[in-house]
Amino acid sequence: MMKKVAVVTGGAGFLGSHLCEKLLSENISVVCIDNLLTGNINNISHLFKNENFTFIKHDVTNFIHVPGQVDYILHFASPASPIDYLKLPIQTLKVGSLGTHKALGLAKEKGARILLASTSEVYGDPEIHPQKENYWGNVNPIGPRGVYDEAKRFAEAMTMAYQRYHNLETRIVRIFNTYGPRMRLNDGRALPAFVSQALKGEDVTVFGDGSQTRSFCYVSDLIDGIFRLLLSDEKEPVNIGNPSEITIKQFAEEVISLTGSKSKIVYKDLPQDDPKVRQPNIEKAKRVLNWEPKVDRTEGLKLTLDYFKKQLF
Ligand code: UDP
Repeated sequence: MMKKVAVVTGGAGFLGSHLCEKLLSENISVVCIDNLLTGNINNISHLFKNENFTFIKHDVTNFIHVPGQVDYILHFASPASPIDYLKLPIQTLKVGSLGTHKALGLAKEKGARILLASTSEVYGDPEIHPQKENYWGNVNPIGPRGVYDEAKRFAEAMTMAYQRYHNLETRIVRIFNTYGPRMRLNDGRALPAFVSQALKGEDVTVFGDGSQTRSFCYVSDLIDGIFRLLLSDEKEPVNIGNPSEITIKQFAEEVISLTGSKSKIVYKDLPQDDPKVRQPNIEKAKRVLNWEPKVDRTEGLKLTLDYFKKQLF
């Protein structure tokens, strides 16, 4: 049988690079495309010696040219942390809309199956808790997070249109908060912020009163769920995330205690439209993918701490 070929957009990013590794380990050739705007070549440099791995530096908001056979496209290109999309609002909108259009066009041209990386942000500040795939969300289109949320909502709509109109094979994953090695230390997210602050003995910055909740998934669990979705027959969005929910204040305390740090918590202003709660309902993923997360937060945080220590010191 001919070896399958997967294109990963955003392949030099946190999730993209783990995905490239997973695909290679499943004996699938990988063409990684990234413009390195928020991605980092160090995330994939160890793969350059692999003959089944190719890297193309390219901005996928422009026409994507890949020679030869393509069986799968995993569209992961996008700034994805609140700080990034506040700094890069136009690029975020463009990669979610124009970039998704180009990726879908490539899929149609090649007869490839495409998996879109969507996000729990499509649920906005949710009024339904935990969030189930059939919830339509509560998004502020003109708020600071709107550039990401609406781009991803558009991307889902466009993907479904290609599925219905062009009979394209499409998959959509709604990714909830994920952490692990290769997360950028300074991407402004809670976890890298707390971990680097705690390791350096600086104040740990909790936004608002810290009563807002999140549910954190370790990266290997997420990648396993995404790979299962890629190979499944499920055509509608599937949540992948860890349902173990925690307040941000408790989370900060957990990080401080795990690092053995003397850091204190300080409170800062809550960013606009910061979701008050977030937890995935993963019944669908359990049913159709036979998937559930295996790594608990203590274990996952320890693995992540090792990575952050190496980066920092
Ligand atoms: N947060 C915080 N301190 C920080 C960074 C983030 O308290 O230094 C909060 C943020 O306001 C949000 C939660 O932690 O309520 C998770 O933020 P993150 O940026 O990790 O991701 P989000 O889930 O908001 O996309």
